Amino acid sequence: MDWFEETLHPGLHARLRIDKLLYRGESEHQRLILFENAEFGRVLALNDVIQTTERDEFIYHEMLSHVPLLAHGGARKVLIVGGGDGGMLEEVLKHPGVCRATLVEIDASVIDFAKQYLRAICGDAFEDPRTHVIIADGLVHAQTTPDRYDVIIVDSTDPVGPGEALFSDQFYRACRRCLAPGGILVTQNGVPFVQGDELRQSLLAMKSLFADTTCYTACVPAYVGGCMAFGWASDHAELRATPLPVLAARVTKAGLDTRYYTPAVHQAAFALPGYIADLIE
Ligand code: SAM
Repeated sequence: MDWFEETLHPGLHARLRIDKLLYRGESEHQRLILFENAEFGRVLALNDVIQTTERDEFIYHEMLSHVPLLAHGGARKVLIVGGGDGGMLEEVLKHPGVCRATLVEIDASVIDFAKQYLRAICGDAFEDPRTHVIIADGLVHAQTTPDRYDVIIVDSTDPVGPGEALFSDQFYRACRRCLAPGGILVTQNGVPFVQGDELRQSLLAMKSLFADTTCYTACVPAYVGGCMAFGWASDHAELRATPLPVLAARVTKAGLDTRYYTPAVHQAAFALPGYIADLIE
């Protein structure tokens, strides 16, 4: 019997049984593996780090998309950096007000792969006329694009390999540059219990660039070590305190049907456990 072992954290390795190997190979940028597991369904890992799974992807994708989009309330142009599996794109496109969703992915093979094997995650998001895919480094795009985005979602790998650039001060500065006035930046910021330094450094960089920064959390079973953190940066503190009735009205208006996200979960996600608040103080 074969097992997949994730070696992201030096003192904590997660093992998932490979019930059926669907693909194992190497792209220009990273090693890819896709397999089926009894608990998680199809599992995608890049460079031996789990990226997404069929069974729990809804938690991660709903929380990293609907929280900023519903807090903003009028986003038309959205940038997703990374996100080649298409799960984030699918959630973003559920908002009828979004007229353009730009996805900047460094590795075209992840997108091809998602279209072939991960339709349960990406649906037909890549075929949506509002989708604009750019194959490029997210750092370079954010530094050079003439576009201004209402919401930027950083759906990156962890800060190893090509994802490292997406945790740099330079990158956050570039995001600030291409964020429209009133915009919101959110980031995949790992599991603070085991990746506390990563969260601390990201928030430190964001703090020097934006008037209001924090993180919010959700528990995603495939990302081991406790709840994960999503970085949040904007210039308007009231955006993260959007009242419950306003959020509920926006959910109804958008016709959103979610499995994890609710307006109450949205608000509660910003209540930080002490050890996480200490990390980002
Ligand atoms: N949900 C995932 C997680 O939490 O680990 C992330 C999923 S998504 C597959 C991450 C994507 O980021 C990968 O497809 C990877 O190729 C892409 N990526 C990594 N570094 C990048 C960069 N510098 N610019 C654009 N995309 C990048």
